[in-house]
Formats: sequence, C-alpha cells, structure tokens
Amino acid sequence: MTSKTFKAIVVGGGPVGLTAAHSLSRANLDFVVLERRPKIVLDAGSNLVLLPIGLRVLSQLGLLPAIEAASSPMSRFKRIDHEGKDLGDTLWFTYFKENHGAYPRVISRHDLMQILHDGLPAEAQAKLLPNKKVTEINSTDEGVTVTCADGSTYTGTIIVGADGAHSTVRSQMRTVALQAPSTSSVPASANEEKPFLTTYRSMWIRFPTVSPINPGDASETHGYDCTLQLFAGEDTSVIGIYERMEKPTRDGARYTEADEAAFIERWGHLPVIAGGMSIAQAYKDRTQAGMVNLEEGVLRHWSYDRIVLVGDAAHKFTPSTGAGCNNGIVDVVALANELYHAFRAVREAEGDETAFPDKDKILGAFNEYQQVRFDTVTDGMNGASRATGAATWSDATHRFVDRHILSKQSLVKFFANRTAPVMAKSPVFEYVKGEETMVGKFPWAQPIKGSLS
Ligand SMILES: Cc1cc2nc3c(=O)[nH]c(=O)nc-3n(C[C@H](O)[C@H](O)[C@H](O)COP(=O)(O)OP(=O)(O)OC[C@H]3O[C@@H](n4cnc5c(N)ncnc54)[C@H](O)[C@@H]3O)c2cc1C
Repeated sequence: MTSKTFKAIVVGGGPVGLTAAHSLSRANLDFVVLERRPKIVLDAGSNLVLLPIGLRVLSQLGLLPAIEAASSPMSRFKRIDHEGKDLGDTLWFTYFKENHGAYPRVISRHDLMQILHDGLPAEAQAKLLPNKKVTEINSTDEGVTVTCADGSTYTGTIIVGADGAHSTVRSQMRTVALQAPSTSSVPASANEEKPFLTTYRSMWIRFPTVSPINPGDASETHGYDCTLQLFAGEDTSVIGIYERMEKPTRDGARYTEADEAAFIERWGHLPVIAGGMSIAQAYKDRTQAGMVNLEEGVLRHWSYDRIVLVGDAAHKFTPSTGAGCNNGIVDVVALANELYHAFRAVREAEGDETAFPDKDKILGAFNEYQQVRFDTVTDGMNGASRATGAATWSDATHRFVDRHILSKQSLVKFFANRTAPVMAKSPVFEYVKGEETMVGKFPWAQPIKGSLS
C-alpha cells in the first residue's frame, strides 16, 4: 500500500537544516523548515572549516562559486606551545588537497548560511519559517504533528530533527519511544536522557585581522589543559579556544559575561600566533564572542517511528578536526539517498511515478541511513576527541604524539593517506545532476552523475 502525500517537517534552520531544504527541494518533495530564531541568516557564530566531504556536496548543489568567493583555502597550520615556541607546522590540509582535490576552506557561519539560503529557489525559501520554536511533537500511524511556542501546528509525514546539540526533537523522540508499549522499563529504542559528555568548554572570539596576523594565517597553540585554533580571514579573524573542564559533565551550561571574564583571566596570556598578540588582546578588540560547552557523543538510535535526527542533534564532535558540520551535511545526503531508494522502489513496483512509500518503507530508509553513517561518524567523533586530547596534552602519550609525531610531515602524510579511502567513500546525492569539481589521488567511490534528473 502507498501513501497519498509526503511532507517533511525539518526542525532547525542551521547549516544542516538548510542542506536538508536543498535535498528536499531537489527531490521535488514538499517540506517546511521551522527555525526558532528571528531570522534564518543571522550574523552570529564562529567560523567553519569546510572539508572536501562537505565542499563536494555543496559543489554538487551548485554553491561552490559563491563559497569560493566568501572563503579562504587552508593549506598549512602553524603550531606553537603556550610559551610561543615552535612545535612544527602541520600539512594535513595540503594532503587533503592531494588526496581529494580541494583545500579545506574557512568560511563564517553567516556567509555559509547566506549562501545556503540564496541557493534555494524562491518557492523553497518561502518554506523557511523563522520565529518557530518547536516545543512538542507527536507521531502516529497516519503522520506527525509539531507544535510551536506561538501555538501554531504543522502536520506532515516525517520530522527531520536538525535542531542542534540541545535538540528538542531528540528529547521528544525519547518521550515517544518511552511511551511505546514495552516489556522492559526502558524500551531498547530509547536513547539516554543526556547522551553527550562534555570534557571541554570553548570560547570563540572574532576580531579584526591586524598585524602580526595576516589574512590566510592558520595557527594552533597547544599545551596543558588549553588549546586554540586561529583562522584569519581578509577582514576578521576567529579563534576557538578549548579548555579542559575540571570534571566532565552531562549537564548543559549557559555562560555569562562574568564567565567570559574569568576565562580570559585564566587563559588571556596565551599567544594567538607566533611573535605576537595574546588572547586577552583579541578579546579586547572583539567584534563578537561566545562561550559554549563542547559536547561529545554519538546517539545509539538516530530515529524512532517517523522521527529522524541529522547533524549535531544525532552526534556531537569537538571542533579540533573541523568535522561536525561537514558530517551533518553528509548525514543529509545519506538520508536523502535512502529515501530516494524507497521512493524508487515503490514507484517502480507500482508503475506510478506519483506514488509515495508507506510508513514501513520510510522507517526502513531511516534504519539504513543510520547503518550507512554510524561507524564513520563514530570514528570521526573519536578522531576529533583524540585531536583535542593531543592539543591539550591530556596525558604523557598525547603530549608526546603532539610534540614528536604530528610535527613529522612523513607521518602526517601517512595518517592522511590511511584515512583517505574512508573519505573517498563519502556520498553525494544520487538524484542531483552536477559536475565533479574535485579530483585527487583517491577517486571518489560514488561519482557525481551528470545525467540523472
Ligand atoms: C567553536 C566551534 C567551532 C566549530 N568549527 C567547526 C568547523 O570548523 N567545521 C565543522 O564542520 N564544524 C565545526 N563546528 C561544529 C558546527 O558548528 C556544528 O557541527 C554545526 O553547526 C551543526 O549544524 P546543525 O545545523 O546540526 O546544528 P546548529 O548549527 O546547532 O543549528 C541548529 C538550529 O536549530 C535551531 N533550533 C534549536 N532548537 C529549536 C527548536 N526547538 N525549534 C526550532 N528551531 C530550533 C537553532 O536555532 C539553530 O538554528 C564548530 C563548533 C564550534 C562550537
């Protein structure tokens, strides 16, 4: 049996939610994106590094020229310790270019959001609704309903939770799973209430790019309990500072200006780059700053019933490897491809190009999506965790690796080549026409097909 309609309700209009809007728009499926903030594109947030796996998807969507115009390529990281002493540069990103055909690029969250927004056709842009904070969701055999804080409700076929690390959809999905009849006290398909563990907190600071910092500089400062990453753009630079907490916690935190001041008191003396500028100076000159917890974890269950999670709602990385958002973008691709398979199967079986898969087929697609992504995402999360551990010298082994292994380019190249086959398996949309703009030593397992509609 087939359903008569299909509509996706995407909760959260961040970078991953907007990528979901592209995927649905390209598939000619109805959708709405509900975003709690007053505007979809806000001038807020840190900078993001786009890795080849994410860039290639954005390129397939035709967004690469705009991204190239708004971002800078990154080839080399300088590394210094807390005293400003040279730890040896690292060329990870040069090897990414060799292996996958593109340097990672650094872009502000604002510019990425603007490009994702502007790249949608007008009728899809009209489906992005700000000021819609989702507070409750319901899932039944017939469909889903979400309720927003302003009392409005939306009904559809599936809910895609793209609402970030503190996801309301995730906690509502747990409630739905717990309410399901079960023989045990906690149904096997319910996630933990607090699935992410926080070992590090972060402060990020945006400030004007002035001497001794030059546009294009990328630098890291490493040492006991605190590390920072600098990305210098044409006009502004951003540093992300990651501090090991006294004790890991599963509780959330909201930070105040007093917390920022105390953070600067603790770490303001650290150098941002060799030969100059301290964190305290960058903070004094700031145009924006913020503090957040850096949760880590991968959910055991990425879907329940008609509800499915993507991006930070499903998994959370420390930012050290610049992989969290990139993996969220790839989640959307994997989910869209599995839904595409479900649509194709029912349309071919029924000889009806307007048929939609029923609930069981959709749930099957959700399960396949998690299967496709789970191991890669878990490895990515662990890799980011190790990188933050090494940069904060969390123990003697990490300190040794950071000082004596990661400074040797032959070893870095060896590690980059070892992970390249996994990266090369990263998917693209099966149903979107595009050009293969990135070609490196490791061919992509799934080429972008230019002839599909
Ligand atoms: C300092 C720092 C640096 C980082 N650097 C990188 C990097 O270089 N590369 C990288 O890949 N990743 C990086 N990340 C991680 C990256 O920011 C996240 O992985 C990414 O933002 C996840 O996108 P998302 O859309 O899943 O979630 P979010 O960006 O959190 O977006 C979620 C959206 O949902 C909305 N929302 C939340 N609740 C509701 C609700 N109830 N109803 C409606 N809307 C709701 C929010 O307002 C928000 O707009 C970094 C993170 C930090 C903190």
